[in-house]
Amino acid sequence: MASILIAEDEARIARFLEHGLTAQGYSTTSVTDGAAALDYASSGSFDLLLLDVGLPVMDGFAVLREDGNAIPVIILTARSSVTDTVAGLEGGADDYLAKPFRFEELVARIRRRLRDDRSPESLVLTCGGLTLDLRSRQATVSGRTVDLSAREFALAEMLLRHAGQVLSREQLLDHVWGYDFDPSSNVVDVYIRHLRRKLGPDRITTLRRMGYRLEDLP
Ligand code: CA
Repeated sequence: MASILIAEDEARIARFLEHGLTAQGYSTTSVTDGAAALDYASSGSFDLLLLDVGLPVMDGFAVLREDGNAIPVIILTARSSVTDTVAGLEGGADDYLAKPFRFEELVARIRRRLRDDRSPESLVLTCGGLTLDLRSRQATVSGRTVDLSAREFALAEMLLRHAGQVLSREQLLDHVWGYDFDPSSNVVDVYIRHLRRKLGPDRITTLRRMGYRLEDLP
C-alpha cells in the first residue's frame, strides 16, 4: 500500500483528499505548512507528495527547491496560476493539477507516478451479477453489456467498492463530481436513477437522510 503525503492548508480540500485516497487503498498523512511538508517528505516514509503551492511558512516552490527530488511530487495549484506552476515544474515537480480538479483525474496521475499497476483481480469489481472492468471501462449485468457514461461508471465503481455500505450523498458528490460541486445539487439522485434504470431497480437502496447503498447480493 502506497503512502501519500498531503501538504494542503485548506481543511476542506485536505479532507477531500484524505477520504478519497483512503477509499482507494492508499494511506495518507496530512500537513498544513511547507516546513512540515519538507520535513515529512525527507523522512523516507512516503511514496508520493501532493503539494499545494500556496502554503504558509514556506510555499510549495520553496519546498520543491529544498527537497532534492526525494519522492515524486504532484503540485496542486489554482487554475489562475498555472503559468507559474509550469515554471515550478522545472524546479523538480513531476506533474501538476489545476484546482478545482476531479478526483478521478488525481488518482490517474497518482497511479501513473507510482507506476502503480494494481493486481489483475482488483481491476474487475463484481457484485450480484454486476461486473465493472476498470481497465476496459465496461459494465455488464448478468453477462449483458450495459452502456454507462463516464460519470455513471465512476458512481457505479464507488458504490461497488463499498457494496453493502451506506454512502452519503456528500461522499458520492465529492468523489465523483469533485469537492467544488454545489452540495445542494441533486445530481447524485439523478445519476442514481440512471443507474437503476440501466443496472436494475433493486440493486441500489435509498436510505432516507443517509444516502445510498449498493446491495451486496449473492
Ligand atoms: Ca493553499
